[in-house]
Amino acid sequence: MPLTIATVPCLADNYAYLAHDVATGATAVIDVPDAPPILNALRERGWRASHILITHHHDDHIAGVRALAAATGARVIGAAADAHRLPRLDEAVAEGDLVRIGLAEGRVIAVPGHTTGHVAYHFAESRAAFTGDSLMALGCGRVFEGTMAQMWESLTRLAALPPETLIHSGHEYSQSNARFALTIEPDNAALRRRAEEIAALREAGRPTVPVPLSLELATNPFLRAGRPELRQALGMGEADPAEVFAEIRRRKDRF
Ligand code: ZN
Ligand code: FE
Repeated sequence: MPLTIATVPCLADNYAYLAHDVATGATAVIDVPDAPPILNALRERGWRASHILITHHHDDHIAGVRALAAATGARVIGAAADAHRLPRLDEAVAEGDLVRIGLAEGRVIAVPGHTTGHVAYHFAESRAAFTGDSLMALGCGRVFEGTMAQMWESLTRLAALPPETLIHSGHEYSQSNARFALTIEPDNAALRRRAEEIAALREAGRPTVPVPLSLELATNPFLRAGRPELRQALGMGEADPAEVFAEIRRRKDRF
């Protein structure tokens, strides 16, 4: 049975996710920007947090971990590489490791770039990936610690997941990401349609995530750095995709 997943807005523009295994009652919380809204969301559904999965060490993703773990006894899981700068881990994981939420099985994917220890979690049977600040809806995280080449490699690995995978990212940045994406590919019809949908969702106060990977592949400029039409649009016809990615990322940093 696939996990039942709920989106929980936290702080100004962060998202946490609840992933609930109906068969066993096990419930994972992916990232904990702030404990109170997550405890409320759990209470509303009658779920108890059994696991906390951390994508990376930034404060807006872990600030509530200690409080949520203390309130629920949830098992805290995060990257072994970042154990020194994460809340105390009950389980330290690395690339390829499996995490179990009740009967659901997720795989850890190392996605360095935004931070060196950033991980994503892919639950194949549930067609869900939790990507934090690596691949984001219509964007990607700023490259703070890793290299541009590392971030491109990380995005390439996420892009290779099954196209129906729903990408659950850590922030509501879609509207400004759409504005930027349109500066790169103003003639991308799928992107223009999506920008309108995003505006309508935000107008209604609704989240624009999760998003199917297939839609990201058609519209997210950071995933499209290898496409001839995008290279052409940037006047980088022969350039290596990693270089095209780096150019797009630099432009976004200045946007
Ligand atoms: Zn971050
Ligand atoms: Fe963040």
